[in-house]
Amino acid sequence: MAGIIGLYGYDTAWKMARFIYYGLMALQHRGQESCGISTYDGERLLRECRAGMVDQAFGEAELEALRGWIGIGQVDPEPPNGGPPAKPSFAKCPLGLALACDGSAARALKAARERGLSAGDPQGALAALLSRELANGDPFEAIERIAGELGGACNFIALTERGEMIAYRGELGIKPMVIGNFGFDYGAVASESCALDVIGAELKADLSPGEAYLFTPWSIERRKVREARPRYCAFEYVYLARPDSIINGKSVYEVRMRIGEKLASESDVEGADSVLAVPETAIPFAMAFSNATGKPIGMGFVQTGRRVRSAIRPTQFERLVGVQLKLNPIRAAMAGKRVVLIDDSVVRGTTTKNTVKVMRNRMGAKEVHVRIGSPRIISQCPFGIEVPDRDELIAAHLSEEEVGKVVEADTFHWLSLEGLIEAIGLPRGSLCLGCFTGEYPEAL
Ligand code: SF4
Repeated sequence: MAGIIGLYGYDTAWKMARFIYYGLMALQHRGQESCGISTYDGERLLRECRAGMVDQAFGEAELEALRGWIGIGQVDPEPPNGGPPAKPSFAKCPLGLALACDGSAARALKAARERGLSAGDPQGALAALLSRELANGDPFEAIERIAGELGGACNFIALTERGEMIAYRGELGIKPMVIGNFGFDYGAVASESCALDVIGAELKADLSPGEAYLFTPWSIERRKVREARPRYCAFEYVYLARPDSIINGKSVYEVRMRIGEKLASESDVEGADSVLAVPETAIPFAMAFSNATGKPIGMGFVQTGRRVRSAIRPTQFERLVGVQLKLNPIRAAMAGKRVVLIDDSVVRGTTTKNTVKVMRNRMGAKEVHVRIGSPRIISQCPFGIEVPDRDELIAAHLSEEEVGKVVEADTFHWLSLEGLIEAIGLPRGSLCLGCFTGEYPEAL
């Protein structure tokens, strides 16, 4: 998973790097290891890539140096592979271009090798392919040729040294991608609508799976280059996307509220004193659970530091001495109480077990009833979401009751798969549910 954005100004006065910077900050949850911006200044492509978070990586000097009224950006969850950060990827020959990518571009490596192109990683291979194909004629035909070899799970935004911007959403539509504008001033594409909101752009639509947009100084053209076979990632709604985003026409916040209602109807806890969320994804689940059951919601935890998903983790020693970067429980919210604890997912079970232990042993909770807003995660994700090996997935091996015992909860419940599908409100056949079922879209 990555977060990508592209902005196309229709006036050369725009300094688009600053807007891309804010857009990337809104997409930070999609990748925290590295970030980069590339712009076009009318003569050449410029690029700055940095390790770490967007607001720490880019300062005034970097943004000033990125001249131009057109630009793309990417936040990435993968640490750079040996060398310096290099996303968006660059291809120089035969056509100079920069490319930001979200999803699985693994097949681009094979396609590039078959054409005799050298490329280090899949995204670099895709940039090299696109450079070759775009140099040879009609942009849409070039995208069509390449898209047919990508397997359907890859979105990209490319910026060329001819001053074009191209956006494409793979025909499976696994990853979200939206388009919007700021009046007649600029056009915008991004992984999630929250990135458009923060820069004042108006959301217009989702890109349809298999659809491409071409931005030039004279027009915005749109074309279906592949037949849509939608398999929207269900986990985006549970965990990956921001709650203020609207993806595939569905408000993530509303889906999460419906998940909380489903949890309440599937597994209420008689006589519980309060409902607490593990921040912050699970907060809407807990709010809706509380609304549906009439049990008061409390604030059970405070996060220390910024929201960290993968970048910085305490060492084993720091964990041993009790460094608890993520969550500090609030004793008064749970001491002597029968608590419903709502979280977004359980992967290995260790975090949930630690949380329950701390709540009971150190904070004095009388009972801890765990409710999870995701169905059982039993399988890996082949589309770039980091899920541990099946061997490590607690749900792949134990029943709900057994997991409850392992995490030392008084009772334990995962949202049902049907509950999730109903909460999302899209047809089951249009969703990827692979990590919950082990069945993946046929392209793989
Ligand atoms: S396997 Fe899971 S995380 Fe991966 S795309 Fe499918 S639903 Fe999303």
